[in-house]
Amino acid sequence: MVYLDFAASTPLLPSVKEKLFRSFEEDYSNPSSAHQYGRITAEKIEYAREVVANSIGAYQSEIIFTSGASEANNLAIKGYVLANKNKGKHIITSSIEHKCILAICNFLAKEHDYEITYIAPEANGIIKAQNVIDAMRQDTVLVSIMHVNNELGSIQPIKEIGNACVARDIRLHVDAAQSYKKLPIDVDELNIDFLSLSAHKIYGPKGIGALYIRDLRETRIQPVIHGAGQEFGLRGGTLATPLILGFSAAIEDKTIENSFNQIQKINEFIRTETNKMKGLINSPEIDYIPHIISIRFPDFDANQFITNSQILCSQGSACSSLNIEPSYVLTSIGLNYIESMNSLRLSIGFDTDFVKVKVFFNELNKFLNRL
Ligand SMILES: *Cc1c(COP(=O)(O)O)cnc(C)c1O
Repeated sequence: MVYLDFAASTPLLPSVKEKLFRSFEEDYSNPSSAHQYGRITAEKIEYAREVVANSIGAYQSEIIFTSGASEANNLAIKGYVLANKNKGKHIITSSIEHKCILAICNFLAKEHDYEITYIAPEANGIIKAQNVIDAMRQDTVLVSIMHVNNELGSIQPIKEIGNACVARDIRLHVDAAQSYKKLPIDVDELNIDFLSLSAHKIYGPKGIGALYIRDLRETRIQPVIHGAGQEFGLRGGTLATPLILGFSAAIEDKTIENSFNQIQKINEFIRTETNKMKGLINSPEIDYIPHIISIRFPDFDANQFITNSQILCSQGSACSSLNIEPSYVLTSIGLNYIESMNSLRLSIGFDTDFVKVKVFFNELNKFLNRL
């Protein structure tokens, strides 16, 4: 088996595993307890919070731990807009956001009468900043655009969008689940007000992530999970100490940064081989992260290939791959039904080497010739 589905989830790094196991053993006290042991655990969590904050140029007091990027997206969007209805009821997002963003916007439109503008990307999967800017109105309260698309690897022009948001006093939310630790992120430089992160996309544990909130203390946010006052009153529930420490161990580990060049070479190899086999690249030619590449071949039943080969990859995103519907991301860049059914998303990790990628192309050749 060859695992090429790192955009869906990743295995634990050894450093993370060690930290997790030790923490499950040792850090069982409730960090909200006033006794000594509670305070020791609370300190470990505050150190982890600092690690998250430092990694994106934020303050420790602006980081909320959540169960992952989905929850962070919920807290950012619902939490902000529902507490600031007086600022307007128009939201701008894109048609290629993660499913959970689209679900949140749908909910807000249906149940709370928000008006949503969905910006479509260009054919290469990149959203034009000008199209987002042109959609801004007096009553626009929030813009939510992902940093890197999870099916194509396309990088969105966050800085340009951020500048325009600041000029118009509109808040900007960015889902950075796929870009975190693969591209530099500084929330001040990019003018980001809310940033969603997930640990299991960076070789950390599942079930933990974080939301950055600019000026958290002065920003009105409605909690999504009401509780006993944890996380500045915004996210109730006893903090998951081992998961939080595992998350910060994954952030401190430099494996992702150190494997970037190798992954770039593998990406280029996949592009060359795909072209040789008369395949096409759905991902952009510039402004992509090398970790994700979407390709397609004429007369290729990607679904059959995924279910019958030794290659572990996806058609579009993992979340929607149990449906036999075409990916809405691929449809958004202009592919028709057949072209999107011909498509495969390969996502590359730190231990992907040329041997594994060659196994993929062998399997693919066998499969295509069998037809
Ligand atoms: C994986 C992913 C999510 C969901 O993250 P969870 O931590 O699993 O909730 C959200 N957005 C993007 C872009 C993702 O890739």
